[in-house]
Amino acid sequence: MTISDIPGENSAIRRDIAGGCEGLSEASPQRSSASALAFAEIYPRSPGERDQWILSHRSVRNSVTAQRAYAFLLEKERSETGERKQVATIFLTNRECPWRCLMCDLWKNTLPETPPIGAIPDQIDRAFAELETTERAGEFRATTWVKLYNSGSFFDRHAIPFDDYAAIAGRISSFQRVVVESHPALITESVVHFRDLLAGKLEIAMGLETADPSVLDQLNKRMTLEQFGRAAAFLHVHGIDLRTFVLVKPPFVNETDAIEWAQRSIDFAFSCGARVVSLIPVRFGNGALESLARLGLFSPPKLTTLEMAAAYGVGLRRGTVLVDLWDVEQLAACKRCFSRRLARLEQMNDLQIVPLAVQCQSCDGK
Ligand code: SF4
Ligand SMILES: [Zn+2]
Repeated sequence: MTISDIPGENSAIRRDIAGGCEGLSEASPQRSSASALAFAEIYPRSPGERDQWILSHRSVRNSVTAQRAYAFLLEKERSETGERKQVATIFLTNRECPWRCLMCDLWKNTLPETPPIGAIPDQIDRAFAELETTERAGEFRATTWVKLYNSGSFFDRHAIPFDDYAAIAGRISSFQRVVVESHPALITESVVHFRDLLAGKLEIAMGLETADPSVLDQLNKRMTLEQFGRAAAFLHVHGIDLRTFVLVKPPFVNETDAIEWAQRSIDFAFSCGARVVSLIPVRFGNGALESLARLGLFSPPKLTTLEMAAAYGVGLRRGTVLVDLWDVEQLAACKRCFSRRLARLEQMNDLQIVPLAVQCQSCDGK
């Protein structure tokens, strides 16, 4: 039996099966006939064919090496108690994720092979050493949270060798909070093992992407809401925090539905126990999305859509809602109000408040 077999009225049973998450619901409305035709003609139905279609649109990988993390940065993030935590984020270089999600471009900074044992701890050492030599060394020394993002799943043993877990935990023993990412399918006892090696609190970031079951299927993540719910429940039982990524305007979704589904996805994430919901505006860059865009099946969200999703989530006060502002200039449609809109989003991130919407005579706030 799957979630979709269960009658909508029986929400208690639906929640139970999904591990406590609420809001499992019907799929998004039908597309217009023109876009439905384009969809049927271009986008394969089976996961295997979709993998091939997505792969066929890729460009080449960036030149990266197992000897060093491909990036690292310092940032601040608000905690539940209102503190601005200093965070060190390390983007580890490892083998490519085995999934082929339609919207993903993380493969660009990955390797075709598993790094040798010891390479990942060395990457962390090197990144920390380099942070110590920058003009922000003082900020680095004040970091209490660390994010180890690996362009896939930390618990994918072909990406991060299991035999490196203890060495990695040793490198980050001074941090109060450790955030790693994982596909829900890889939330198993390995997670508990890693948790037990850490001195700080483990938090796992999982991509919910969208609570719209039909769009989720089309994203080719090979994950259901039920599976996400079960993984979230597992983390909860084992005292591990959950961070959730929600896409704002994934492919196949129009602007109006994008707002509604972002909101429903935020609701779903919080009902699964998320401590943080991170909103990701879907961007061009992986080849497949550009191809869909030419057929009218994808366009990035408007800035107002992102603002509305963020305002809804922050306004709920059910947990922290963050907007990924990387490259958000790409969404700017009006030069006169962009900086004020960006400042509003930054305030939402930093203060978890919803400032008044920006008024603009040029674009009328659209
Ligand atoms: S599971 Fe995550 S990293 Fe892997 S392809 Fe999907 S979005 Fe990308
Ligand atoms: Zn404007």
